[in-house]
Amino acid sequence: MGDPLRDRRPVNELVRDSQTIEITEEISAFERLAAAVQADLEALEEGSDAGNWRETRVSGWLQFGHSDAHPGARVLEGQLDVELPATCQRCLGLMRLPVSTELAYELKGPDDVPEAGHEGLETWELDEALIRPIDIVDEALVMALPLVAAHDDCVEVDASEQKATTTTPFASLRAQMEEANKD
Ligand SMILES: [Zn+2]
Repeated sequence: MGDPLRDRRPVNELVRDSQTIEITEEISAFERLAAAVQADLEALEEGSDAGNWRETRVSGWLQFGHSDAHPGARVLEGQLDVELPATCQRCLGLMRLPVSTELAYELKGPDDVPEAGHEGLETWELDEALIRPIDIVDEALVMALPLVAAHDDCVEVDASEQKATTTTPFASLRAQMEEANKD
């Protein structure tokens, strides 16, 4: 048996086998997520220490298969949860940022006929027929990051100040990904 999260396999095979993958991995296993967190923490005020955050676990599951509602679609569903350290954009203090995302994707390859999307499913564009599920998890987590993270009690202050918040690492990384995902 290989490692279903890391093995590169044909997406059609994962779908045909209704592959289920349980996830309990350290943040360090997810390259882009770890890089985004690292970049964000560089803004932390001096004296704050996020500790061994790379060892924090990402937990969840993936399920490949077909959906009853859309029999022709190759579907990836799942749930991902992690609590990340983050820099509060208001006070530059350390905060805990729970990130939780549900996946409901229709997987589309480069050769698929373009057609209207299915209700309830987002389209996930695949560059090739072979995929590593861990890459999808990594990207899905980065896309689930909030544009701006701040302590709850800092947010209230923020709202009255109309602070410009366009240059945080989370926001720029996410913008790059959204750009890359366009057609
Ligand atoms: Zn704060």
